[in-house]
Amino acid sequence: MSFVSTRGQAPAVPLSAAMAVGLAPDGGLYVPAVLPASRSWQPQQDLAATAADLLAPFFAGDRLAGALPGICRQAFDFPVPLRRLATPGDHVLELFHGPTAAFKDIGARFLAGALSQLQAGQGRDLTIVVATSGDTGAAVAAAFHRQPGVRVVVLYPDGRVSPRQAHQLGCFGDNIQALRVAGSFDDCQAMAKQALGDGALQASVPLSSANSISLGRLLPQMSYYAHAALQHHATCGQHLNLVVPTGNLGNAMAAVLARALGVPIGQIVLATNANAVLPRYFQGQDYQPQPSVATVANAMDVGAPSNFERLRWLYRHDDAELRAAFRAYAVDDVTIRATIASLFASQGEVVCPHTATAVKVLQDLRAGGAKGDWAVVATAHPAKFESVVEPLIGRPVPVPPALHALLQRPAQAAPVPARYAALREVLLR
Ligand SMILES: *Cc1c(COP(=O)(O)O)cnc(C)c1O
Repeated sequence: MSFVSTRGQAPAVPLSAAMAVGLAPDGGLYVPAVLPASRSWQPQQDLAATAADLLAPFFAGDRLAGALPGICRQAFDFPVPLRRLATPGDHVLELFHGPTAAFKDIGARFLAGALSQLQAGQGRDLTIVVATSGDTGAAVAAAFHRQPGVRVVVLYPDGRVSPRQAHQLGCFGDNIQALRVAGSFDDCQAMAKQALGDGALQASVPLSSANSISLGRLLPQMSYYAHAALQHHATCGQHLNLVVPTGNLGNAMAAVLARALGVPIGQIVLATNANAVLPRYFQGQDYQPQPSVATVANAMDVGAPSNFERLRWLYRHDDAELRAAFRAYAVDDVTIRATIASLFASQGEVVCPHTATAVKVLQDLRAGGAKGDWAVVATAHPAKFESVVEPLIGRPVPVPPALHALLQRPAQAAPVPARYAALREVLLR
């Protein structure tokens, strides 16, 4: 299968080439030239097997095709349970059982496996530049830590990530360099994008991205939706509807692609924090990227959701059709906090602030008469956001062992101004 740019001005390339460069040369995002036809899928015995099955058409003819099952086995070595909640028909899809306790571990581990296969035997080191609003950087750092031939430079907005997130970003060392940027996530993202588009720089420092624009992260994220929805369908014959906490739209876009392939997913509803660019668009306004505002669900503090370009491509740039296909709702900080507190009080469930946006949206959908089986997508473990969650529930949140191990390591990050020149200098060093 070959991959083209959403902007239509870049040559078609095989998947491994698209994964290695991240952004297409015309500034667009890589998408399949032709999406595999929708068909029915069988649930496999585990997530890794489902992933290998689902991803096989995308890797057909690629130099990584033979390595795919092995990459899946290595990347998906932790559970992704679909758990029932007290309200009949409600579920939570827990994506946070990986090494850094957020869903981004899944895509990051797959990408790391794929890129290290491609990198093997290359003379020059590859530098991965990644902008993070909190969780991406840690997941990417964990996935690439001590991988030979790869250096990772992580940019994060200083003071806008939780203390535990900051610690996770700075605690790896070795081939991982953390930069705390005096600016917003959007500044970090713009700096990373500029580096990836800097041909002169790349002549001496080969770069790749690991942001959610990377197909190497986006495509494997289809796997957990497929695994959960196929098992659910096999057990009770129902499609699984989803509420997805959304920032850059990578996680939700993976669900949309999985559904397009024929996975039995029903509705996909987007939940955002106060950064309401998508809700405003789906309510009929123009798509209007905004500077991001800081919220308690900081991994979703995104004012210009990068994967929106892919969603538009999938709907052939037909805004009316796209608006008809999705709903999106914003949840402000006051409501996020109230939802965390009330869910704990009523059901004993503890969720992170991101997951809480989806919980609230599902509560509202149910109140409005929504029927069927729904899953709230739980994107991070609440222990990562203890400074928000613990005061609301009045007790400590136990820290999962993998996260605990990271928090024991010393951490450091270099301060940099929010200017591209500062990043360029670090990359050339
Ligand atoms: C990144 C992240 C999100 C948003 O995911 P996107 O793919 O950017 O939409 C939501 N929750 C958590 C915990 C995250 O880390």
